[in-house]
Amino acid sequence: MDTKNIIFELRTKHGMSQDELAEKVFVTRQAVSRWETGDTVPNTETLKQLSSLFDVSINELLGSPRKLVCQCCGMPLDNSLISREKDGSFNEDYCKWCYADGQYTYHNMDDLIDVCVKHMAGQGFTEEQAREYMKDMLPKLNYWKNHKELEDSGEFERFKKQLIDEFNALNVKGMPKVEKLNALVGCYVNIPYPMPGGNAVKLLDDSATYLGNQLESELGDGRCFGLLANADFLLVASYGKDGAEPELLLYKKR
Ligand SMILES: [Zn+2]
Repeated sequence: MDTKNIIFELRTKHGMSQDELAEKVFVTRQAVSRWETGDTVPNTETLKQLSSLFDVSINELLGSPRKLVCQCCGMPLDNSLISREKDGSFNEDYCKWCYADGQYTYHNMDDLIDVCVKHMAGQGFTEEQAREYMKDMLPKLNYWKNHKELEDSGEFERFKKQLIDEFNALNVKGMPKVEKLNALVGCYVNIPYPMPGGNAVKLLDDSATYLGNQLESELGDGRCFGLLANADFLLVASYGKDGAEPELLLYKKR
């Protein structure tokens, strides 16, 4: 679809007149009209404003001329997967798993490969094939090419290490020593836990990124520990096979 049709559709979908849209992005009604007839295309500054007003990426406003691919993990990016800056604006270089709240999630290619291989295995790939594929593809992406320059002086790794230490200090019975945490997106790990009152409650934000891991219980009861954390809290849960009978063991504010 062309930019003119996209702007028209977004404007009408939001129930705005040309005048109202013009006022919101500080242009004249005539300018809006010219975009919608295809005579002109909004300038870069205005594209940014339209992007934040309609909550769609600039690439989408321009009719998706670029096939966006996360420059860290290689995942094709549709609008719902594009990462955001702290102020909510899109960062069209990365997916929301690899970049969140102004920070890169992965600083070590092997960590990223471990996470991706888990997701890819069983989708027609063997683990070995998935690993080979990632090892070949990742070094071609901008993030890994420029990794040295992008590194945030180890701040994120220190934060991760801190969380690992805090988890280990909890001394949860049967829980093995935590060695590493992976980035996880809320919607995959936001399971409802039964509360004492009988209700089941979800504690996480589906769209937020957390650090977590799954560890097999050392008690030999076939259960797993699920660990999740961010800057605000630590959570430890236990569950059976495929997340059956989840039980919230601990939720601690940091
Ligand atoms: Zn990514």
